[in-house]
Amino acid sequence: MKWIVRGIVALALVAVAAGAAVYFIPAVQDRIVAMQINRAFKVQRDDLAGDDALRVAICGSGSPMPDPNRRPACNVVMAAGHIFVVDAGPGSWSNASGWRLPMNKIEAVLLTHFHSDHIGDLGEVNLQSWVAGRPAPLLVYGGPGIERVVNGFNEAFAMDASHRIAHHGADYLKPELGTMESRLIANAAGAVLAPGEEVVVFDKDGLKITAFAVDHHPILPAYGYRFDYKGRSVVFTGDTVKSENIARFAKGADVLISEAMLMNVVTEMQSVAHEYGRTRFEKMLHDIRDYHIAPGDAADLAAEAGVKHLVFSHVIPPLPQWLGARMFTRDTDRPGLDVHLGFDGMLITLPAAGGDAVFDDLSP
Ligand SMILES: [Zn+2]
Ligand SMILES: [Zn+2]
Repeated sequence: MKWIVRGIVALALVAVAAGAAVYFIPAVQDRIVAMQINRAFKVQRDDLAGDDALRVAICGSGSPMPDPNRRPACNVVMAAGHIFVVDAGPGSWSNASGWRLPMNKIEAVLLTHFHSDHIGDLGEVNLQSWVAGRPAPLLVYGGPGIERVVNGFNEAFAMDASHRIAHHGADYLKPELGTMESRLIANAAGAVLAPGEEVVVFDKDGLKITAFAVDHHPILPAYGYRFDYKGRSVVFTGDTVKSENIARFAKGADVLISEAMLMNVVTEMQSVAHEYGRTRFEKMLHDIRDYHIAPGDAADLAAEAGVKHLVFSHVIPPLPQWLGARMFTRDTDRPGLDVHLGFDGMLITLPAAGGDAVFDDLSP
């Protein structure tokens, strides 16, 4: 027993000494900063965009509900040297750049819809990737309304762009690369995609991206995206209720990344808001339950589509991982379905050579 006490005391003394060293000794502080700089400037992870796999990095697994550990909706999809971002929730750029993803090679942002938790960082993604050396204008895909959203961001960032060109020079920051270009996804009549309709957004080097309709009523447009590469596939639901169109477009996919809401917890939040007279929160918590999907319903769609892995992202509420991993998967046991709770930093690798999906953590 004595040696355990001695061990604990020794560990406590070491911790205190280390803390004191950081607090009092400038050389120790400088050393820590130097280590952080070294890590930040290490070569970027170009390897993640190789032609050996279809990869997804979740750069935002949260929703509009504030949470320091879950940025709102964001995913980086990488294959064959191509980089696409599906949704750009506020603050998500700092995740993607912090993990040294090759964001200077980003080609396009694909927006599922125009709620702020999906578009808030659009200006930042454009600005930062321009500064990082993106070789072509950033394309932004979305349903009807995309031109207005993109023009608005371009206008809001126009002064910033001019300041940076004035400071760093037009050779370093080519003005023509600093303005985003919108790309409309619509049916032949120019209208929002209906269930059953699809648009192939991109088809090059074996990577194919297909847009389809989801149901986030009354929000229109609301799209999901399917990525296919060398026989591997990942599908994003965007924000939606249970919709058969998702099962149709997720048919046989390796991974379905679905939003999810714990309906009973949100109901509980609503009643507590009522008790405290927080009437505006109460109404919001009431209203949001009718345009999101419960984990069990997402599991049903995934099982119906023959999906192998279901990953919850854009989770409401944004619980800590250890707790959420239990609560979001409570009602999701389906034959042959593997279920995960996504997190900021989750990296999913689907090897082109075949074999099962590999789940890693990108965060430092
Ligand atoms: Zn959302
Ligand atoms: Zn939404």
